[in-house]
Amino acid sequence: MCPGCDIAVAMLDNASPQPGQHPLGQLADEAARAPLIPEPEPPEDEQPLYAARTKVYPQHVSGTFRRVKWIVLCITLGIYYLLPFVRWDRGPNAPSQAVLIDFPARRFYFFFIEIWPQEFYYLTGLLILAAMTLFLMNAVAGRVWCGYLCPQTVWTDLFQAIERFAQGDRREHLQLDREPWTADRIWRTGLKHFLWLMVAWWTGGAWVLYFGDAFATVHDLATLEAPFIAYAFIGLLTFTTYALAGWMREQVCVYMCPWPRIQAALTDECALNVTYRYDRGEPRASVKKAAALHAQGLPAGDCIDCLQCVHVCPTGVDIRGGPNLGCIQCGLCIDACDAVMQKIGRPTRLIAYDTDINIKRREHGEKPIYRIVRGRTVLYALIIAVVGALMTYTLATRHNDGVSVLHDRNPLFVRLSDGSLRNAYTVRVLNKSLEKKTFALSVTGLSDADIDAIGGAGFSGGSPLIEVGPDQSREVRVLVTVREQLPPGASVPITFTIAPKTGGPTASAADHFFAP
Ligand code: SF4
Ligand code: SF4
Repeated sequence: MCPGCDIAVAMLDNASPQPGQHPLGQLADEAARAPLIPEPEPPEDEQPLYAARTKVYPQHVSGTFRRVKWIVLCITLGIYYLLPFVRWDRGPNAPSQAVLIDFPARRFYFFFIEIWPQEFYYLTGLLILAAMTLFLMNAVAGRVWCGYLCPQTVWTDLFQAIERFAQGDRREHLQLDREPWTADRIWRTGLKHFLWLMVAWWTGGAWVLYFGDAFATVHDLATLEAPFIAYAFIGLLTFTTYALAGWMREQVCVYMCPWPRIQAALTDECALNVTYRYDRGEPRASVKKAAALHAQGLPAGDCIDCLQCVHVCPTGVDIRGGPNLGCIQCGLCIDACDAVMQKIGRPTRLIAYDTDINIKRREHGEKPIYRIVRGRTVLYALIIAVVGALMTYTLATRHNDGVSVLHDRNPLFVRLSDGSLRNAYTVRVLNKSLEKKTFALSVTGLSDADIDAIGGAGFSGGSPLIEVGPDQSREVRVLVTVREQLPPGASVPITFTIAPKTGGPTASAADHFFAP
């Protein structure tokens, strides 16, 4: 008997019919939703070395993990599409977009944080945090990133929902694909691709809004006044979203993404993974067969081999075969199997988030254990805490002003006609505040030195003054001349300091003064 009918028979045995519905009607409903019987595979020696892709027709499923996935999908896509329109008041002359990558001004704005090009080490910190968070997630709950948060998963999920809307659920879609190209098939397939392209286009459109004022960019795009590069990027992202989420789907996870390979090397027996509890499920037997086996005193597992877990899988994996590179750990097979178990009156969680160690322990009659606090989880959490604290501290205590210095490479020094020695530098002064500022530049480390800034705004107490506009940086050439006699080949460490004329914290940068 087909496994789907098996479930139906079990329902007739175990469940009471809905009011007004005949049990045979239920049976027919269940049978209509039952999976198709897979084609038998050719013998192993006749199978090609490179198998063609088997198209996956994931079946709709309801349950806890499906609900969690919908919630995560709405939150993540909502953030992606709407974040560019969120405003953040930074005062006059500053952009009011909360998250903005301003390439012309070379700034990155993230709510109250403004990153200058000189501070791109924050990006390194962010990358370390992202990697460690991924490792920690993996140590605790396997590929939870892949199953719920990865953009490829989120957009594929959305595209599959659109596909089901246009072409029907698994069974209907399979039948539709077997039909000739009737008007109905053309219309439904066309509708799917149209909706996919709309989503892909919105995705590309939202991306460019992060690189300029979102409202102005939307206006420019609509009136065809946006720069060509904006249209090019929208086109590119429309194509990649359509291709990756619509056509390639699970192939991205299985063949293209490096994370499953790295993840497999980072996991351990205590990490929670979507696991088929073979200790409970095997040997597989239909409900009737299991009853017969039990009557004879023979063992029968809880798995009735209905294949529901396989049919709902977005990557087409049979989790009963053990850990699999294609399994993104989305938990949908848990929902499917739980529904089957409920229908046949057996305990749920035959497939569950579980650890390898617990399967072994249950086999030996021991209680399952969950060890979230382990060496690796503590280490990852510690790195996240240290890097996070360092970044928070440097962000909280950083100055609004900054200075960087670059010594002239050639010549390193010049001997003047009066015997004094001169070194030249390029000094960049940063003013991150929203008002124009004047800074006094001084040099320490030399006992008798004159400082001159070419293009400076005069002198104050022997120190050249440098004016810098609001939220700008300015580069000036600075000449340092020394009359004292330095030892041959000397390299004297010196410090350049800028002090705002209106008072406030100073900023410094170190360099050297070279003698012949
Ligand atoms: S096997 Fe289960 S958890 Fe893994 S991808 Fe398929 S449905 Fe998701
Ligand atoms: S594990 Fe559950 S859903 Fe999968 S075949 Fe067995 S009974 Fe069916």
